[in-house]
Amino acid sequence: MTDQLVEKLRKDRDLSDSELKALIEDPSHDAALTQAADEVRRQWYGDKVYLRGLIEFTSYCRNDCLYCGLRAGNKHAERYRLSKDEILSCCKEGYALGYRTFVLQGGEDPYYTDDMICDIVRSIKEKYPDCAVTLSIGEKSRKSYERYYEAGADRYLLRHETADPAHYSKLHPQNMSSENRKRCLWDLKEIGYQVGAGFMVGSPYQTTDNLIADLRFLQELQPDMIGIGPFITHQDTPFRDMPGGTLELSLRMLAILRLMFPYALLPSTTALGTIDPSGRELGLQSGGNVVMPNLSPVKVREKYAIYDNKICTGEESAQCRSCLEMRIKSAGYRAVTDRGDVKRSGSAVNTED
Ligand code: SAH
Repeated sequence: MTDQLVEKLRKDRDLSDSELKALIEDPSHDAALTQAADEVRRQWYGDKVYLRGLIEFTSYCRNDCLYCGLRAGNKHAERYRLSKDEILSCCKEGYALGYRTFVLQGGEDPYYTDDMICDIVRSIKEKYPDCAVTLSIGEKSRKSYERYYEAGADRYLLRHETADPAHYSKLHPQNMSSENRKRCLWDLKEIGYQVGAGFMVGSPYQTTDNLIADLRFLQELQPDMIGIGPFITHQDTPFRDMPGGTLELSLRMLAILRLMFPYALLPSTTALGTIDPSGRELGLQSGGNVVMPNLSPVKVREKYAIYDNKICTGEESAQCRSCLEMRIKSAGYRAVTDRGDVKRSGSAVNTED
């Protein structure tokens, strides 16, 4: 039995707002949606899953995002910073384990000047010229983004969080704006980065119309990567009593993204794995093709607490490559050692490499 809406989305990579609303709100399309998303990901990427070694190098943050456990106002958060040497030793360990992308993520921490970030990026690229370096360090000036790019950074992750300015202002303090976040994304794209945007699913006050606005913004931006995951509460934030995002809606949005952006790199995120023990595998089966396990030193992991109960050890960790490979295999896919750059055109895949 074919599902008309799903087939239309697969074919046109687009639907009207009211059609999208039906798909987002009505679970009866889910089976067809997931199946189509998996078929499309296999057409474009085969059974490959790209691995990214995630290095959470600072838990200090000058921002006060209402949802995030690292917000400056959280006086209970334990803060840490990794030195350049510590970051390089994470890369060394990661390289030996087969990782070919390192993602440096952190709070917005002014301690790391542009000179320091450039120095760190340059050192990683000198030692591991076959690896991609991804930065995810928040909103900066265009000049700063240009400097990191010149130093060798290949990619930048900056979720837009929500495309609707009114919704954005309910999630962030007054000194932050949706306009500036979007300006950053456009700058990054113009400079030449492979860019990742994205949003939380089920963030406080989010409506279906907000989700549709997110999809429309992504259609405009055409990012290479799109990161989404359920909102999860953190006990030391103003949103501690808000409901979290569901597995069901997160997987549905992932599958919709795969059909709208067949070429995209879509991570099956840690947040998905946090709300359900099989979340990451289910994410892969709903169109995800990237996993970003944690390469940070074990001693600091608990401190990078953006939400409660974040997974930080065991089989989800980058250090256990074989555990990860088994889990990916059990879901029906294959972990590859490869930079995993975006495939922008064509749909032929070489599944041999
Ligand atoms: N400071 C960087 C990195 C932020 S952490 C930046 O601003 O881009 C990466 C992502 O985690 C955020 O973009 C946000 O979408 C997500 N996140 C933060 N708090 C969360 C929460 N409570 N639940 C789920 N996801 C959260």
